[in-house]
Amino acid sequence: MTHRNALIEGTGIAGPALAHWLGRHGMQATVAERTPAPRERGQTVDLRGAGRDGARTMGLERTLRAHATREEGIRFVDAANRSKASLASGAFGGQGPIADLEILRADLSRILYEETHPHTEYLFGEEITRLSDTGKRVDVTFRNGTDRAFGLVVAADGARSDTRDRPRKVGSGRS
Ligand SMILES: Cc1cc2nc3c(=O)[nH]c(=O)nc-3n(C[C@H](O)[C@H](O)[C@H](O)COP(=O)(O)OP(=O)(O)OC[C@H]3O[C@@H](n4cnc5c(N)ncnc54)[C@H](O)[C@@H]3O)c2cc1C
Repeated sequence: MTHRNALIEGTGIAGPALAHWLGRHGMQATVAERTPAPRERGQTVDLRGAGRDGARTMGLERTLRAHATREEGIRFVDAANRSKASLASGAFGGQGPIADLEILRADLSRILYEETHPHTEYLFGEEITRLSDTGKRVDVTFRNGTDRAFGLVVAADGARSDTRDRPRKVGSGRS
């Protein structure tokens, strides 16, 4: 790899999380997000297992806890509101069906963005329109017409990613 820089497509959860780790290992990350600003929609996300370990090793667990929903647990009641069963969020070491570290997706995304912002280049309202891997670098054209070269391109643009199809689209002239 001749270029020590990386382009990440998508400012959701995976994009800024990867920017964090690349930054720690001395790579300059650029994150392109097609919406004009970080997306603030979404419901709650439970952090347990690998997600919690990841937050801890990133040094973010305390910040995430400060923004947690602090859900106490779940209680099943009958028609007269009498409690029939309950499960506290602290059960199973806080990592059971109701995790003790639950956060709104928008808060999780924003915290990751704010943590990485000082050492990461964010391009909002931008996306890749052309992608060509030369073997030594990846040549990228952005929606605004700018051409740039990166050592690595990572598609972190969600479950409905269309970036993963781009090299084939370029090859078939459909970019
Ligand atoms: C608005 C939203 C709300 C969600 N709400 C919930 C929820 O409530 N509960 C839950 O469990 N999961 C939710 N999810 C899904 C959850 O965030 C993901 O499954 C998981 O967190 C993985 O995140 P990700 O970073 O891989 O992708 P995502 O969080 O989906 O982020 C992908 C990002 O890539 C951007 N993007 C897409 N295509 C391009 C492109 N071509 N160029 C540039 N950028 C692009 C999107 O705008 C988005 O910001 C939501 C996702 C989104 C986008």
